Amino acid sequence: MATATRALFMLFGATGDLAKRKLYPSIFNLFKKGYIDNDHFALIGTGRREWSDDTFRGVVMDSINDSADSDEQAQSFASHFYYMSHDVTKPEHYDALSDYANKLDAQYEINGNRIFYISMAPNFFGTVAKNLKVHNCLSDNGGFNRLIIEKPFGRDYDSAEELNNALGKSFNEDQVYRIDHYLGKEMVQNILALRFGNPLVEGIWNNKYIDNVQVTLSEKLGVEERAGYYDGAGALRDMIQNHTMQMLSILAMEQPISFRDVDVRREKIRALRSMHIYTPDEARENFVRGQYGSNGDQKDYRHEDNVPNDSTTETYVAGKVEFNNQRWANVPFYIRTGKMLTDKFTRIDIVFKKPLIDIFAAADNSESQLNNNVLTLFVDPVNKVVLHLNGKKAGQGMEMKPLDLTHVQNDEEKAATPEPYERLIHDAILGNATNFASWDEVSRAWEFADVIRHVWDTDQPDFPNYTPGSMGPKAADDLLSRDGRAWVFNSKK
Ligand code: NAD
Repeated sequence: MATATRALFMLFGATGDLAKRKLYPSIFNLFKKGYIDNDHFALIGTGRREWSDDTFRGVVMDSINDSADSDEQAQSFASHFYYMSHDVTKPEHYDALSDYANKLDAQYEINGNRIFYISMAPNFFGTVAKNLKVHNCLSDNGGFNRLIIEKPFGRDYDSAEELNNALGKSFNEDQVYRIDHYLGKEMVQNILALRFGNPLVEGIWNNKYIDNVQVTLSEKLGVEERAGYYDGAGALRDMIQNHTMQMLSILAMEQPISFRDVDVRREKIRALRSMHIYTPDEARENFVRGQYGSNGDQKDYRHEDNVPNDSTTETYVAGKVEFNNQRWANVPFYIRTGKMLTDKFTRIDIVFKKPLIDIFAAADNSESQLNNNVLTLFVDPVNKVVLHLNGKKAGQGMEMKPLDLTHVQNDEEKAATPEPYERLIHDAILGNATNFASWDEVSRAWEFADVIRHVWDTDQPDFPNYTPGSMGPKAADDLLSRDGRAWVFNSKK
C-alpha cells in the first residue's frame, strides 16, 4: 500500500484550463491510489470568478468523470475542495486565504503540510509568491511548504532571474518545484534506468562509440488556439529552452552518485555547464529556424487566427549542440522541434559509429552493407525502445540485413504508467525534486537560448520556408548533411 501524505493544496488558477484538464484528474488518481491521505487532505481553489463550493465541486467532478469508479467516490473526493474568489493582485485577499487555510488545516488535521500550485499566467508568479509569505499563508508549525510553478519560467535569462529572485524572497530553492512535464514522461525517466542500470549501454555511451545524438519533438498541428501566447514566444522558448534542454541534460550527464534528487540534479547541471554557448556567428551557423507556409488546405502561420500577417515568429527550430567534455567531445547532439510537421511524436535517436573495418565488404571488395547501429527511444505517443543492429540474411553466403530488437510497452505497463502531472504532483508531495527543473538548469538553458534569440531578433528571416506535413525547412537537413550525416527520421520514411 502506498504511503499517504497529509496535504493542504492551495491552487491559484482553479477555474483555468490546465486545472480542469490535468490537475484535478491527477490529484484524483493520487487520492484513489492512496498516495494522498483521504482523511487529511483539502484543496482551496482560487480564481477570479464568483463560484460557490458546490459549483467548484461540480467542475471537479466533471473533470474526473471518466476515471471515478462511482458517484460516491467522486463526491467523496470533491467534498475536500473549497473555493475562494480571490484576486491575486489584491494583498488583502491573502489574509482571508491564510485564515481559511488555518481553519481547514485544523479541521482535517493536516499538520501544516502545504502545497501552493500557481497555475496562472507567468506574470502573476512573483506576486502570488510574495503575498503568500507576507500574509502568512505559509505554515510555521513544522509542516512543509512547497511551491509548484507552471511554465514558462521567464522569456530570457534576465526575466527568469528576476522571477527567481522574486520567488526566492518567499521560498528557498529546495521548496520550489518548477514543472517541466517532459520530466514526468515514462521514457524520459527510463533514460536513467537504461543508462545506469545497464553496463552494456553505459559502457558505450560516449564518443568512442556514439557518432551523434538526435532529439526530435514533432507536432502535427499548428498553433490552434494558443496563437496569442505562441506568437510572442516562438518554438525556441516554447520547446527548446525547457523540454529539449532537460532531455539533453539527462542524455549527456555523468552517472550520479545516487538516485537522490540533489545528486541527479548536480550531474544534470554539470552537463549543461559543459554545453558550449555559441557566439552570435556560431549561432547563425548551427541553428536553423522555420515558419510553416500553406499547402492549399492548411493556412500558413501568418494567416492563423490572432497571428499578425508579418509575424517573424519561428514555428520550427533545428540546431546542433556540443558538450565540451571528455565523454562527448566531437559528438554533435542535433535537436529539432516544430509545428505542422509530418506527425506528432517525440523520439531520441542515438546513432553509433560503424565498425572501423568492415570485413564483409572487404571479402569481395563490394560496397559496405552495414548501417549505423541506432538506439531509438520513442517517448511519445508510444513507449518503445528499438535497437537497430546489422544481422545476417538467412540463406547461403554472407548477405547482411537490418535486425531490429524492439521493446514496446504492453497494456499492463501502459495502465501502470501515470500521466506526467500525476507523477510530478506525487513527487512534490513526497518532496522529491528529481523530476523538476532547478534554477541552475533553467538559467543555463536560457544562457544558451538567449544568444540564438538575439541573433534571430536582429536578422530578418526568410519566412515561410517549410511545407505543412514535411519535417521542416531544407536548411535543417543541410545542417546534418554538411557534417556528412542525416536525420534518422525524415518525412520520406
Ligand atoms: P487559463 O487562462 O485557462 O486560467 C487562468 C486562471 O488564472 C483562471 O483560473 C483565472 O481565474 C485565474 N486568474 C487570472 N487572473 C487572475 C487574477 N488577477 N486573480 C486571480 N486569478 C486570476 O490558463 P491555463 O491554460 O490553465 O494555464 C495556467 C498556467 O499553466 C500558465 O502558466 C500556462 O502557461 C501553464 N500551462 C498550461 C497548459 C495548458 O494545457 N493549459 C499547459 C502547460 C502549461
